[in-house]
Amino acid sequence: MRAVAVFPGRRELRMIEVPAPARRSEREAIVRIREVGICGTDREIAAFHYGKPAPGGDRLVLGHEALGQVVEVGSAVRTLVPGDLVALTVRRPCNDPGCVACGVGRQDFCTSGGFTERGIKGADGYLTELVVEEEQNLVRVPRALAEVGALIEPLTVTAKAAVDLDAILRRYPWEPLGLRALVLGAGPIGLLSAMMLVARNARTFVYSLEPADSDRAQLTRSFGAEYVSVGDTALADLPARVGSADIVFEAVGTAKVAFGAQAALAPNGVFILSGMPSPRAPIEIDLDRIMRDIVLKNQVLFGTVNASRGAFEAAVRQLEQFMGLFPAAVRSLITHGAKLDDVPELLRQPRGIKQVVTLAA
Ligand code: BGC
Repeated sequence: MRAVAVFPGRRELRMIEVPAPARRSEREAIVRIREVGICGTDREIAAFHYGKPAPGGDRLVLGHEALGQVVEVGSAVRTLVPGDLVALTVRRPCNDPGCVACGVGRQDFCTSGGFTERGIKGADGYLTELVVEEEQNLVRVPRALAEVGALIEPLTVTAKAAVDLDAILRRYPWEPLGLRALVLGAGPIGLLSAMMLVARNARTFVYSLEPADSDRAQLTRSFGAEYVSVGDTALADLPARVGSADIVFEAVGTAKVAFGAQAALAPNGVFILSGMPSPRAPIEIDLDRIMRDIVLKNQVLFGTVNASRGAFEAAVRQLEQFMGLFPAAVRSLITHGAKLDDVPELLRQPRGIKQVVTLAA
């Protein structure tokens, strides 16, 4: 069976042969991988900045945004049958008895740091033909979502953030209506988050590098958000351009942009950080002003990393909702189809919005 792997010690990225996996328990299913999306995390791993092989191994099979089809189930599997489409969850719990989060199946909140992530940290991923997984790590996907199912894993970032956002919005002694939102970055997470905010009737602005007449800008407008190009509005002028944003959703992964946009956050506003900066030289930011604002304006800043099984289930529901509201926009997030052989090149040279590798139809 073929797979795409990195060898961090040797700084190599290449196609390898691996044996087909076998089931070790009756609670497991064998899944044929149909599609895998490629994201910034994969590129970080391919550039040897991030990612870790399983203990004792020298290589990591990449891929974590997967849509698969069940081919065989163990006798203890209750909710899946061969033929079912599934999204595969990524994070697995740590073994630390002191980690309450992992103990209750919320490894996205792991406190020990000992969690593993398939295709990222300590466990092989899904850029291969067949994988074996426990039923609890497989989330059924309706057939109607087959063509966009590879978006479920990235959408879990948005889905999890939406749950925390709702919890924070409940602190107001009034019904928060007529919200204004600002999304930083028109990558897949930014656009999916903008869709989530539009679907919640927030007036939503997306701020990104591409020009105002670019495909991404048009796509943004096609589902009801407004697009603001960096080329037309400098970061410092953002508050004047978009007004006071009750919600800011950061999806660019640079502190300079994130904290530079903090001035656009409204009193009582919520700022969600979802991007992961690569290692860079330190930058200067006026943190005293930011701290003063956070205190005097009751602002909340929170970071979020996906994702529990619940977030995957929520992402499936959210994707169904988006496909009802703006199907063409959702489809056009997937701009580049690729084959397994193209992956090394794709990781070096990103193209379009979301690249999806097709392994089986
Ligand atoms: C993945 C998450 C993972 C995070 C950090 C993201 O790209 O979607 O599952 O927790 O990277 O490794």
